[in-house]
Amino acid sequence: MATLTSRCAVVSPTPRSPIKILPFEVGRPPADSIHVEIIQAGICGTDPHLWKGDYGLRAPVVLGHEGIGKVISMNPTVITDHAGQPLHEGDIVYWTAIRPCRKCYYCTVLDDECGCPSNGFMHNYEALARAKEGTWATYSQYATLGPRNSFYRVSSDVPPEAYIALGCALPAVIQATGRLRKGHIEPHSTVLVQGCGAVGLAAIMMARLSGALKVVVIDRNPIRLAKAKEFGADDCINLDEVTDMGERAKRITTQVVGDRGVDLAIECSGHPSAIREGLGLLARNGTYLLIGTWAGKAEVLFDPFVVVNKALHIQGSTYGAPRDYYRASKVVEQNWQRFPLASCVTHKFSLDETQLGLETVMSGLAVKAVVEPNRKGN
Ligand SMILES: [Zn+2]
Ligand SMILES: [Zn+2]
Repeated sequence: MATLTSRCAVVSPTPRSPIKILPFEVGRPPADSIHVEIIQAGICGTDPHLWKGDYGLRAPVVLGHEGIGKVISMNPTVITDHAGQPLHEGDIVYWTAIRPCRKCYYCTVLDDECGCPSNGFMHNYEALARAKEGTWATYSQYATLGPRNSFYRVSSDVPPEAYIALGCALPAVIQATGRLRKGHIEPHSTVLVQGCGAVGLAAIMMARLSGALKVVVIDRNPIRLAKAKEFGADDCINLDEVTDMGERAKRITTQVVGDRGVDLAIECSGHPSAIREGLGLLARNGTYLLIGTWAGKAEVLFDPFVVVNKALHIQGSTYGAPRDYYRASKVVEQNWQRFPLASCVTHKFSLDETQLGLETVMSGLAVKAVVEPNRKGN
């Protein structure tokens, strides 16, 4: 196959304008690269914001940074994935959203690929159509991966839904928990998870796998709260049912974790209004891990005297690095039958239905929605 024609979903810079399904051509995979046929592209919570114009796009872009796909052609330079596992056509791969350059200060000196300034995850459609070098974006029938998008072979015995369920969220949580003082969630610790979308569910799963004593979740979406319970949360508090912050604190301390408060609070909701509550519930020496407030801008009031008097630790974390994607693939492979990962995918859309997919995610009806760009009937 010399040239491949693919269709992709393109978002224009005009907020909420109809998503266009446009073609592009791509030649053979360049050096160190592979072509994959995308099986499922995850709709991340970030994507509807980009379509609504919350972040101001400068040009039409192909969205989608979460994918699972089948290798359909490989440059002869590729014989393994980025973990050294042998790779062949027909294998299933999972790949990184970020594209570290591996030649900047962050990549090479700080070993912080998540901080690399070259990490854009959206692909300009006009540049894509011109260059014929393919795209790493996933709202597309075919993606071209490598060398900057690390790709990892995953088990074909595991349903693709189990990998895509927590999309970029599981690698982001693995990166974040690696930044904790001990490098992981401590066994026997008490954990508060604020927000139980994909990031929150990944946080519950990692807390359970780390041997946490208690896991408490706060959200207002009943569908997601029910899923949080299935993931093993001990108590799930609906903000719309327990509306008073003081009452929630009383329930959490008296009924679940004890008077000291929680050892670790993980912010996964992206709502700045959650910060005060999270800080307030921490025990002395507790840690506040912020993952959800990735995009946006806000100021919140908090009491710095409490931070000092309780010797609190506040830690932020951005995205997941390639190593986190590899580890996420192994966590899923080992635990997809223990945790209800595959059933998180509640909605599937064809490529032509991408906009409906974004709207469904915005409506809060989905635990996880995916686009299946090669589904028949596209
Ligand atoms: Zn994402
Ligand atoms: Zn870099």
